[in-house]
Amino acid sequence: MDRPLLNRRLAEFGTTIFAEMSALAVRTGSINLGQGFPDADGPEEVREAAVRALRDGRGNQYPPGPGVPELRTAVATHQERFYGHRGLSYDPDTEVLITAGATEALAASLLALLEPGDEVIALEPYYDSYAACIAMAGARRIPVTLRPDAATGSYGLDLDELRDAVTDDTRLILLNTPHNPTGTVLTRDELAAIAELAVERNLLVITDEVYEHLVFEGEHLPLASFPGMRDRTVTISSAGKTFSFTGWKVGWVTATPDLIGAVRSAKQFLTYVSAGPLQYAVAEALALPDTYYTALRDDLRAKRDILAAGLTGAGLQVFRPSGTYFITTDIRPLGAARSHEGDGFAFCRALPERAGVVAIPNAVFYDHKDRGAPYVRFAFCKQEEVLREAAARLQKL
Ligand code: PMP
Ligand code: GLN
Repeated sequence: MDRPLLNRRLAEFGTTIFAEMSALAVRTGSINLGQGFPDADGPEEVREAAVRALRDGRGNQYPPGPGVPELRTAVATHQERFYGHRGLSYDPDTEVLITAGATEALAASLLALLEPGDEVIALEPYYDSYAACIAMAGARRIPVTLRPDAATGSYGLDLDELRDAVTDDTRLILLNTPHNPTGTVLTRDELAAIAELAVERNLLVITDEVYEHLVFEGEHLPLASFPGMRDRTVTISSAGKTFSFTGWKVGWVTATPDLIGAVRSAKQFLTYVSAGPLQYAVAEALALPDTYYTALRDDLRAKRDILAAGLTGAGLQVFRPSGTYFITTDIRPLGAARSHEGDGFAFCRALPERAGVVAIPNAVFYDHKDRGAPYVRFAFCKQEEVLREAAARLQKL
C-alpha cells in the first residue's frame, strides 16, 4: 500500500481540535472550557415535546426530504418574527430546508455551489469545518484576517483587504456573525459594505448565523436583509445554540427556491434526512415566547462577565465578545515563560496540568498560523459555579 488512505483533500485536517480537547479534559479531569456546549440542557418543555413525538410515532420513519412541514413553517415564522421588520420572510415550502445541524447545511451548501478551482473568501479565524468542506468541494479558501485591536479590546474587519481578496475566480463569501471564535458581531456598516461588494462582483454569500440569538451588545442583522442580498444569500442557523441542545443536530437553510434546490441536491446524498422526532420538538421551541430568548441572552451575558473577570484577573488580555459562547484572550501578557513563548498550542496542552482547565488554541482556526499563535479561546456556556471554579484555578497562572 504505497498510497495514503486518506485523500489529499482531507490529509491536512487530522482530528478536530474539539474532539482532541474534550478527550483531554476527560482524561485529566479538567474543567472543559474548550468545546462549546452548555453543561445544562435546554427547556424541559422542548425535551417533553421530543418525547411526545417519539411516543406518538411522529418522525420515527423518514421525514420528508426538505424537513417536516411543522418545522419548515416554524423556521419561516421565526424569520418573519425576528427579521420581518427588515423585510425578510421566507416561504416554508420552497425557501426552507432542514438539515443535520448547521454543519450539514454548510457542507451541502459548499458542495452544491462550488466548482473545483473556485475561490471562497472566509473571515479568518474561521470555524474548522469551513476549511474542510471547501477542500472537499475542491475549491480554494482565501482567508481575510479579522484583526485584534488591543486598544478597543475587539476585532475588526479590514474592508479594503476584503475587497482586494476578490478575484475573477471568487464564487462566494462565507461569513459568520456573531463570529466564532472572536465573539465579534459584524456591524451594520460592515455588513452593508460586504453586501455592496457581493452585488458589485456578483458573488454568492453563505452566512452562518448559529449564534444569532446570543448577542450581548449591538444587534444581529441578517446579511440577507441588506439591499440586493435576498437573492444571493444562503442563510444558515440551527437549534444547538439557541435552545441548548447541541447534540440534537437540527439545522436549517433559508434562501431563494433556486438556492434551496441546489443545496438540497447535495444534502439529499449526505444524510437524506435526520432527527425526525426532534424536528417536531424544535418546531415548538422556535415558538417559545420572547422572554425565553431574552433570558437565554441575559444569562449568557452574565456568564461572559464572570469568565472575563476571571481571565483578566489571571493576567490574560481579554477581547470582550459582543456575542457567541466564547472569549478570545491573548496569553502574552503572562510573560514569555508562563505563556509558553506566546504559543497557544503549547499553552493549551499544558493548561490541564497547570490549572485543571481546558481551552482551545485559536491557531487551529487560521491559515496564517503565526497570526493566531498567541490567542486562546475559552467557552463560557457553563454553570456559574463552574466558571467561578475555573476562574479560581486560572489565578495560579
Ligand atoms: N457554525 C459555527 C460558527 C459553530 O460554532 C458551530 C458549532 N456549534 C456550527 C456551525 C455547527 O453547528 P451545529 O452543531 O448545528 O452543526
Ligand atoms: N461549535 C463548537 C465550538 O466551536 C464545537 C462543535 C464541534 O465540536 N464540532 O466549540
